[in-house]
Amino acid sequence: MTKWVYSFGGGLNEGSAGMRNLLGGKGANLAEMASIGLPVPPGFTITTEVCSAYYDNGSAYPADLAEQVAAALHRVEKSVGLVFGDATAPLLVSVRSGARVSMPGMMDTVLNLGLNDETVEGLAASSKDERFAWDSYRRFIQMYGSVVMGVPHHRFEDLLEQAKHGLGVTDDTAIKAADWREIVKDYKDVVLKETGKPFPNEPQEQLWGAISAVFGSWMNPRAHTYRKLHDIPASWGTAVNVQAMVFGNMGDDCATGVCFTRDPSTGENIFYGEYLVNAQGEDVVAGIRTPQPMSAARATADQSPMEKVLPEAYKELMRVRDILEKHYRDMQDIEFTVQSNVLYMLQTRSGKRTAAAALKIAIDMAQEGLITQEEAIQRVPPGSLDQLLHPTLDPKAERNLFSRGLPASPGAAAGAIVFTAEEVEDRAAKGEDVILVRIETSPEDVHGMHAARGVLTTRGGMTSHAAVVARGMGRVCVAGAGGITVDYKAQTMTVGNVTLKGGDWITLDGGTGAVYVGKVATIPPTLSGDFSTLMGWADEVRRLRVRANAETPEDAETARRFGAEGIGLSRTEHMFFGPDRIGFVRQMIMSDDPATRKKAIDALLPFQRDDFSQIFRIMSGLPVTIRLLDPPLHEFLPHGETELEEVATALGQSVESLRARRSALSEANPMLGHRGCRLGITYPEIYAMQVRAIIEAAIAVSKETGQAIVPEIMIPLVGVKTELEVTRKAAEAEVAAVFKEQGTTLDYLIGTMIELPRAAITADQIAEVADFFSFGTNDLTQTTLGLSRDDAGSFLPYYVDHGLLPKDPFVSIDREGVGALVRMGAENGRKTKSNLKLGVCGEHGGDPDSITFFESVGLDYVSCSPFRVPVARLAAAQAALAMKKEKASS
Ligand code: PEP
Ligand code: MG
Repeated sequence: MTKWVYSFGGGLNEGSAGMRNLLGGKGANLAEMASIGLPVPPGFTITTEVCSAYYDNGSAYPADLAEQVAAALHRVEKSVGLVFGDATAPLLVSVRSGARVSMPGMMDTVLNLGLNDETVEGLAASSKDERFAWDSYRRFIQMYGSVVMGVPHHRFEDLLEQAKHGLGVTDDTAIKAADWREIVKDYKDVVLKETGKPFPNEPQEQLWGAISAVFGSWMNPRAHTYRKLHDIPASWGTAVNVQAMVFGNMGDDCATGVCFTRDPSTGENIFYGEYLVNAQGEDVVAGIRTPQPMSAARATADQSPMEKVLPEAYKELMRVRDILEKHYRDMQDIEFTVQSNVLYMLQTRSGKRTAAAALKIAIDMAQEGLITQEEAIQRVPPGSLDQLLHPTLDPKAERNLFSRGLPASPGAAAGAIVFTAEEVEDRAAKGEDVILVRIETSPEDVHGMHAARGVLTTRGGMTSHAAVVARGMGRVCVAGAGGITVDYKAQTMTVGNVTLKGGDWITLDGGTGAVYVGKVATIPPTLSGDFSTLMGWADEVRRLRVRANAETPEDAETARRFGAEGIGLSRTEHMFFGPDRIGFVRQMIMSDDPATRKKAIDALLPFQRDDFSQIFRIMSGLPVTIRLLDPPLHEFLPHGETELEEVATALGQSVESLRARRSALSEANPMLGHRGCRLGITYPEIYAMQVRAIIEAAIAVSKETGQAIVPEIMIPLVGVKTELEVTRKAAEAEVAAVFKEQGTTLDYLIGTMIELPRAAITADQIAEVADFFSFGTNDLTQTTLGLSRDDAGSFLPYYVDHGLLPKDPFVSIDREGVGALVRMGAENGRKTKSNLKLGVCGEHGGDPDSITFFESVGLDYVSCSPFRVPVARLAAAQAALAMKKEKASS
């Protein structure tokens, strides 16, 4: 018999933290907390396998599920001494979703389940609080009505507003028991009117309705979007947790809260969070009432920290916090409820944090001895380092403060004000910088938050939806800026007598919570002490070297600053576009007589020599790979008539003849046309000039600095060995000529890119004439999939959205196809030359997932854009640790 239901709390814990795949994160951790003696209300978890079975079998449950649920529910009844559906001592439960990884606010929750016209009287009697009982009942109808029965939420809200108006009160707390009774009646009428069905009075029917709603919510559009953004497979499914209710809304000695064992924004080792007295859990995250801080140290004079208001429960919570951190060895995000001064734990999970916090917590915990140095390396997601490289506001820049909110997610961002997620997406797609401004955000806004530079909300705290989601995404966020009045209709936001309109620019400082009018200048990030500590640890364990793709002195400097160990790709064509050079480049292409062409090429030589000298100087002896000209010539052709005339004058030819040459040079399929080494073979003077410039620069800088420079000359787009043979021979002849002229020599390498399938397949032959290979995975992806790099945008997103491809193959390597060719190329190449140096210089060189793959292939280095270098260093370290673990276990 399959076990579908696992109990926790009340002395029986059938699950544990390790069972997250089966029980979901919430269920696994509830069982774990209960088993280490923490106060967890008893309950049970229905497994994720039931979710999968439910979807596989057309929304039908396994036959023996009902029996297992009944047994587990009975156990809960016994352990709390209450009975589900009993008129005098009713057990009430919560029903919540819980996937393997947390998906905040994406799926549904129902509280107070089990209330009906009879049990509500029992609750009133046992709690001695009739008002509380009827308030709980109406909350239940509201939640169940909208979540399970699909009644629009606002129908209930409108009714409540009307009732308050009629009673002449503004606060829910002023509504008396008798009035709640009436509201409950009205709520039920609404349900009947909206759905044609009465509100279910039978607790068992309520329970199964809620369970099905949670399983159903796994496939709702919000959850679907979230999964897509976070690479969560639909096949994982969610678990359902049913748990005895405890009440944070039974009076002033009750409370509910959400907190982090350390600051999730900065990583500081202080208890951090928010709570509300006399409230139910959803009130805190929903951002409807403004929550209060936990610790007195973090409270302002007008706030009421839990440490002061509920000192006993606070002390107990501090004790639990310590136990949790020691037990889980990680920062925890916890939910709790205090009922009549007694603390109950409702959730713990490893807390989401900013990159800065992840870094600080990892380093601190390693230094506190909670985790090892290797674990610390694995705790920081490499991609998140991008966030640390965020700009901040220039302290010297002028600024005009508009208002202040909470510093919810760090970094500085400027953009035009936009009030809807849809408009954000539209404008961002056009390349505009925009800031999403909302009173509060909800899961429907997630796509807009993703596309925005930053997010500003006027309501809600540090754990509000906006804050949590923005931090997770690394978006700048200022939350709860209550001084700002937003008017969606008028598309304005106002503070005092200053009104900003949609489209006006603002700047957010997510580190301080400040909102400025207009665009404030920013400065590049400083790489903090913790950052370099982690990078140092990563460098100790990684095997893969990390180089950068750079061709300008600025990029080379940035690359070095970020720890690049050389340049893996210098695209020389980028040097041809400078205003002082492009004229000569055009003359070179457009002239049909070799002597004139030679003159133009000779004019380019000093520029190239200077380019290479600068790079060699900056890289001071580190390896530098320079790729000879690659793109099709047509990219450099004169465009308009004026440009054509300029070239005609310089060459002394007629505009007509040049026009004819221009059309002769244009190709139907330039990416597969006259480019790469094909150019170097048919126009040998171009490559000869570049080789000369490289060698002359290397000799000069070696002399000047005393450092041995070993230039690596790279030939692009080789498909057959003969191509490399011919270009290599010509290059060697040019090198020999330079050596002779200068009366000196130096070491150099000549290698090739492997970026065509044929090159990978025949790599053993190509290796005979290559000193190194660098996999050009951009072109290799293009040619292996037959998928144009420049045109894929029109259909590739559809492929990824609909699961035809798991990821964009230009971002993350297609292991089975392109990856197989990389592996074949590496193995074949090394068959010929066991010490052949192997690297990769396509975009994949900076993608953590692809780096894991390259580690497994045994490449020597990856090369990526300068800003990705830290990401690659960390990813390479994690890949090395993963390989070590794999080897140890095999
Ligand atoms: C490649 O093809 O992967 C590569 C690095 O070259 P480029 O992007 O310049 O074509
Ligand atoms: Mg290429």
